Amino acid sequence: MKCTYNFSAGPAVLPKSVMLRAQAEMIDWHGSGMSVMEMSHRGKQFMSIIEKVESDFRSLFNVPHNYKVLFLQGGAIAQNSMVPLNLLNGKKAHYVLSGYWSKRSYQDALPFGEMSIAASSESIGYVKAPEFCDWKFDSASSYVHFCSNETIHGIEYLSMPSIKSVPVVVDMSSHILSRPVDISQFGVIYAGAQKNIGPAGLTIVIVRDDLLDVASPMTPSVFHWKTQVENQSMINTPTTYSIYMAGLVFEWLIELGGLKAIEKQNIEKAKLLYDYIDSTDFYSNSIDVSNRSRMNVTFRTHDENLDATFVTGAQNLGMIGLKGHRLAGGIRASIYNAMPIEGIQALLDCMKDFEKSH
Ligand SMILES: *Cc1c(COP(=O)(O)O)cnc(C)c1O
Repeated sequence: MKCTYNFSAGPAVLPKSVMLRAQAEMIDWHGSGMSVMEMSHRGKQFMSIIEKVESDFRSLFNVPHNYKVLFLQGGAIAQNSMVPLNLLNGKKAHYVLSGYWSKRSYQDALPFGEMSIAASSESIGYVKAPEFCDWKFDSASSYVHFCSNETIHGIEYLSMPSIKSVPVVVDMSSHILSRPVDISQFGVIYAGAQKNIGPAGLTIVIVRDDLLDVASPMTPSVFHWKTQVENQSMINTPTTYSIYMAGLVFEWLIELGGLKAIEKQNIEKAKLLYDYIDSTDFYSNSIDVSNRSRMNVTFRTHDENLDATFVTGAQNLGMIGLKGHRLAGGIRASIYNAMPIEGIQALLDCMKDFEKSH
């Protein structure tokens, strides 16, 4: 098989060892005579899988006891509606706009009630995320929402807010498990799995206990966090195989030394790319240094056509998914947990060669 490095933003690269294990267990899971895909979600075998997945996730991410973990569907985008349905409670909510995804969360929430913009960096083209001290919200509101890693622009909050007066809701889809986080600072954390966790289809939601009792009576049962908690995320059939795959990724991360260890690798990987981009006038990254994403490294040459030539050339060398999002243009290397350092080296070599020949 040709050696490829997948820099796609999502669905994205998974650890090779995880894929090999899934392959080995594919048609007969632990002597059960069945694939995980074929198991009843309420059977003893799958129940043992999901319980281990949850306990591994809790220990890996250090989830406090007063938080529930849900394995849902619908992607991060479904949470854009579930958040106001479950939390708004007739009050106002605030949204921080730091890029495409947080703006979309805000727009999706508008039909549910009074939404206000706490801060926005849209007018400066999302090159820097609004600082915590500039967020405007009032403590009588139901929550303040933000996105901690904007996947399209490559903007990351490298520290997290500490707000006591209002529950903080965060979309962590594209950098969850890339570093340790103090969960107790948040009311709700959600993330689609297909960036840093596993296959598409699964959405993980972490909710603080005391926020489970204010859902609108209009909330459909599959969207109702408390109902899902009471039914172990099985008000209907969950994404069993994606949950199993996520579990293999959690085991891989635990074996690697947990989130401190992966954070170290992620810092190193991103630094290699940004240092090189900064060292030359040929490539540039427009994001404020304090918000440069460790997961989604965006850059460009001086010319759109040259960007496209680079992407095609890299693809011919086995580096796929480097085309920037259509809204941002340019080039984007998504270098999630599972991207090995060899992939970064290969990309750097490719960037250097391209610079020389153009
Ligand atoms: C990919 C992504 C989404 C959308 O996720 P879906 O699973 O397609 O709903 C939302 N927010 C962020 C930050 C993302 O990276």
